[in-house]
Amino acid sequence: MSAGAASGQSDGAARRTVQRDVLCPFCGLGCDDLEVEVQGRAVRALRACAEAARLLARADEPPPPCRVEGRPVPFEAAVAAAAGHLSASRAIAFAGLGADMEGLGGLYDLAMAAGASLDHAASGGLFANLDRLARKGWIAATLAEVANRCDLMVVLGPDPTAAFPRFFERALPAPSAVASDAAAPMFVDRTRRRRVAVLGGTLSAAGRRALAPHDVAEIALDGATLPAAASALALALKGGTLGQAGLPGEIAAALSELAGLLAQSRYAVFTWDAARLAPADAALVAEAAAEAVAAASRTTRAAVFPLGGRDNVVGAHQLALWRFGWPLRTQVGPGGARHAPDLYATRAALADADLLLHASALRPDAPPAFARGPVIALGHAQTVFPREPDVFIPVGTPGVDHAGHVFRMDQVVCLPLAGLRPAALASLAEAARAIRAALGGTP
Ligand code: SF4
Repeated sequence: MSAGAASGQSDGAARRTVQRDVLCPFCGLGCDDLEVEVQGRAVRALRACAEAARLLARADEPPPPCRVEGRPVPFEAAVAAAAGHLSASRAIAFAGLGADMEGLGGLYDLAMAAGASLDHAASGGLFANLDRLARKGWIAATLAEVANRCDLMVVLGPDPTAAFPRFFERALPAPSAVASDAAAPMFVDRTRRRRVAVLGGTLSAAGRRALAPHDVAEIALDGATLPAAASALALALKGGTLGQAGLPGEIAAALSELAGLLAQSRYAVFTWDAARLAPADAALVAEAAAEAVAAASRTTRAAVFPLGGRDNVVGAHQLALWRFGWPLRTQVGPGGARHAPDLYATRAALADADLLLHASALRPDAPPAFARGPVIALGHAQTVFPREPDVFIPVGTPGVDHAGHVFRMDQVVCLPLAGLRPAALASLAEAARAIRAALGGTP
């Protein structure tokens, strides 16, 4: 089992086990060193970040039943009701899409059978980055490359710690003089502190703690100045003068100093969380980071490491590319696929849709507001709905109730999840397959 070793002891009514090396599916960093206690149906994290602990926690209680129009029904009746709504609709939007690869495969099959647009709840940052990536490409690093090679990290924008709690710990392991320390970096001097420049946001207390082993410089900027400052830094690396950028003198001086350090670095990494920037700013920051890397790469090594990956959005994107030849925000159906990001981003799609199918297996996220037609929710058992969906089918959580796979945020590793406790709910893949069979497609 990929959840590593499990040890157990009898604690009276239910056997207690402690599972080690558990893989976390939530934020996209793919931490695989969690420790989790399972007793009966109760799950409690013993070693995890606060976000993972919150999302892994389960009480020892039975799962909720399926509901149709608020009334408990058997799974088969909910499936039949969902299929009936899908058959009667002409403009269907699939949203949420927080799922493992198997669940996404089932949803995409169902979308092709029913005809639907597809978008993930966390795709905003992804599309801001695709704006640059699709036009000119960039040089990107993997998480392992960052950890083992980066000697200067430039953080553009808000502290990543809020959305990716262990990012700094994973990307910049603390220096270590202990030769047997497996976490210490491989290709930089393992005893040296690394440099980190934070351009824009103020570090949180957690971010400061995580970066305490390194030399950190913060260049304070308001959010509106970030794109111009990032562009100015790229300009300086290309040999331009910062005086042309129209920035305040102290910021220009700090950027000039940083450009000098970048020129001397052996492997610089630029990172940012596009989802936490305004969409237009995010695209500009991504562009500036990629240009800075291209300029620095003429004389040294540098790479971008775009942050993102919540609820397997990377897997949803990859699977859409493989299956349809287009990224998310694509309409699929028996007639083929049509990619139109302006039309099929969730908010735009819902403005025209007559049915919303919301899928969220990894966390109890409620569907987006929608009043133009029925709502089908294939969701986390603990979801609280502001508006009762027409059909609710509670599904298991990958990595808690059943096995599955999710992509890490750097897109190079598809990670196996193991179930922690006996499944009592259908997986999202099973629910989607059952609805598709009820529609008359191949199960
Ligand atoms: S940092 Fe992310 S992947 Fe790591 S344990 Fe926390 S939520 Fe999970």
